[in-house]
Amino acid sequence: MSNKTDVRLAVKHHLHPFSDNAELKKHGVRMMVKAKGIYVYDSDGNEIIDGMAGLWCVNIGYGEKKLAKIAEKQMQVLPFYNTFFKTTHPAIIKLSEKLVEITPEGFNHVFYTNSGSESVDTMIRMVRHYWASVGKPSKKVIIGRWNGYHGSTLGGASLGGMKSMHEQGDLPIANIVHIEQPWYYGLAKTGESEEEFGIRAANWLEEKILSLGADKIAAFVAEPIQGAGGVIIPPASYWPRIEAICKRYDVLLVADEVICGYGRTGRWFGFETFGFTPDIFTTAKGLSSGYLPIGAVLVNDKVTEGLLAGGEFNHGFTYSGHPVSAAVACANLNIIDKKNLIEKVRTKTGPYMRKRWQETFSQFKYVADIRSEGLMCGFTLVKNRDTREFFDDFGTTGLICRDIFFKNNLIFRACGDHIVAAPPLIISKKEIDNMLAIASVCMREFEELMDKKLDCKTDKAA
Ligand code: PMP
Repeated sequence: MSNKTDVRLAVKHHLHPFSDNAELKKHGVRMMVKAKGIYVYDSDGNEIIDGMAGLWCVNIGYGEKKLAKIAEKQMQVLPFYNTFFKTTHPAIIKLSEKLVEITPEGFNHVFYTNSGSESVDTMIRMVRHYWASVGKPSKKVIIGRWNGYHGSTLGGASLGGMKSMHEQGDLPIANIVHIEQPWYYGLAKTGESEEEFGIRAANWLEEKILSLGADKIAAFVAEPIQGAGGVIIPPASYWPRIEAICKRYDVLLVADEVICGYGRTGRWFGFETFGFTPDIFTTAKGLSSGYLPIGAVLVNDKVTEGLLAGGEFNHGFTYSGHPVSAAVACANLNIIDKKNLIEKVRTKTGPYMRKRWQETFSQFKYVADIRSEGLMCGFTLVKNRDTREFFDDFGTTGLICRDIFFKNNLIFRACGDHIVAAPPLIISKKEIDNMLAIASVCMREFEELMDKKLDCKTDKAA
């Protein structure tokens, strides 16, 4: 079978997620056939740098044979058993112990899911059940943020602040509201310092709580760094103020660590990088480095106590705590430990990436707000960076830029007109250099293209 046939077959029956499937049927897709380290290989034999670690998840990189061996062994011994009805198995006990070992004091309980979305939906149900259990059933409203991302299920998509997702199918569901995101470049007033903006942005939470009544508010949920929203990194003043507001109004603080968790920001969890402690945090992705689906919701002692008092929690998935996923996740966390990946990101590759990312993209005139934390990086494409003028039709230009990277065998992602990168945590300094050398060539091509496009527009207008 030729590659061409393969690629046509790939879209014949499969409806792809987050894709215009009619478009895919016309133009086809790129078939990835194998991967190693930070590279993926397509069916034409191209070596592609995966600057996104899959979907922000392949933290330990591709091709870890140990995980394949562990999965095989677990499948031979106990491929499946559930944890619903007074049963358990060794793999999930081991993983739970490991998770408690790497989380801060006060976190001693884990609920398992299969994905980030399921973790978020679990958390929504858990938070409301908690308040009902402790005698405050009116606390139901959950506050998220515009441009936040919390998954694709009804709960996750509602809590997320992606308007394009809300438009499809009557979202958000009841009792979910949003506040604005802490994006300094996009939302600061003239002359406002980052610190001042961080406090003002956090105060939007207080205003929302006061306008609805604290007796109605169950939780505030946010990503430490907004990932799919475009790697929006809040000012240092933001999170401590958010934490104080949640405490003051008896609102649970939930961190969605699905992207930030398991080393991406140079600590085990993003909240450690930003100096706050949530009551609950949702995770997935890096928990198994994407080798198998698994998610986990970590719950602190206060919330656990409330939940335990509430009797049966009528919630769970057939594969909550799947033995093969659990065994692989545990081995993955041990690899992160053994290879010292988190310290490497915090002290070596993270700072190096920040410097090189700045140097590379600051040369280009359509680039503004160059930012990074650990191995989460972004910048924003703008028509004029001095006047903060954005391109028309936010998102169109991002896709043009992303497609140039992709054509040149480099995977970065466009989130609107934000370009983002999140490579595997194993990336070396040399690989960062190679990746950014290709990115630089791509940006030149992008700049020339945009010069022409804008010239054309000016000519027409003249
Ligand atoms: N929360 C966050 C912060 C995410 O980034 C994502 C996925 N990108 C999700 C939840 C949903 O995870 P999943 O796609 O595994 O359902």
